[in-house]
Amino acid sequence: MFICHTAAEIREFVRGARAGGQTVGFVPTMGYLHEGHLELMRRAKKQCGVVIISIFINPAQFGPNEDFTQYPRDLERDVKMAGDVGVDAVFNPTAEEMYPAGYCTYVDVERITERLCGLSRPGHFRGVATVVTKLFNIVNPDKAFFGQKDAQQVLVIKRMAADLNMDLEVVTVPTVREADGLAMSSRNIYLDAGQRQAALVLHRSLKMAAGAVASGLRDASSIKQLVIDMIKTEPLAVIDYVEIYSHPDLEPVDKLWGPALLALAVKIGRTRLIDNIILEVLDHVSHDV
Ligand code: AMP
Repeated sequence: MFICHTAAEIREFVRGARAGGQTVGFVPTMGYLHEGHLELMRRAKKQCGVVIISIFINPAQFGPNEDFTQYPRDLERDVKMAGDVGVDAVFNPTAEEMYPAGYCTYVDVERITERLCGLSRPGHFRGVATVVTKLFNIVNPDKAFFGQKDAQQVLVIKRMAADLNMDLEVVTVPTVREADGLAMSSRNIYLDAGQRQAALVLHRSLKMAAGAVASGLRDASSIKQLVIDMIKTEPLAVIDYVEIYSHPDLEPVDKLWGPALLALAVKIGRTRLIDNIILEVLDHVSHDV
């Protein structure tokens, strides 16, 4: 596998792949890989001739009091795991490579960033959109793969790619979960045994809400309240937000009439976890048949 740390080197690698007639798949990550990341890479490998991943803990997307310095890192392990699923190249730049002295250009996606994690983490999506734009410009992929786990992020990237006429396809990959339902996340490593157990309330409450919608509940505030009530039964859980928006437009909804994103952010101890589910309303299908 090809491992490099500069934009010039990965560009050269991509040039070679293209000259050989290969399509290029790209999976941006912050490393400390888990099955969720690996699933993105497997999908990329199925759909593209050459797969490149980036491992870069992007300082621009962390707030001043967030976990940038503690964020787990293990490049050697990551490289081995990526190699095992067939990744062809790892781009692992330094912060200086990505943001050299004098750097002053940022990408701001409006509206859909002004809710959910965009409210709780001011500047987060500006950092994400900027680094992803830079990575897309460096790697120049045909397809880029993002996880539904970060539902708002993938919508922001799709919006940005469309708005800025980026010549690539953004592919969404379903959330990969542990056997007990916890969404895989590099941050799960922060949880002790009791917190790990408490964290199950996120997925449990999402499933409960999906069940309520399947039974006919359509009122968004009632659905939200059910979720809030369930999360509050867990003493270690502190709600950041529980929200429902139309999907994929992220417009406010009162009554569910089409696909809606139920998204939540919950702190368990000092660890902020996010999870989501798309609530499908199938009424229109039953009218059609
Ligand atoms: P991160 O390293 O956390 O920035 O994540 C890199 C990519 O992996 C993003 O597109 C995430 O949405 C995706 N990802 C993270 N966790 C999961 C998961 N449990 N299932 C699917 N994709 C995930």
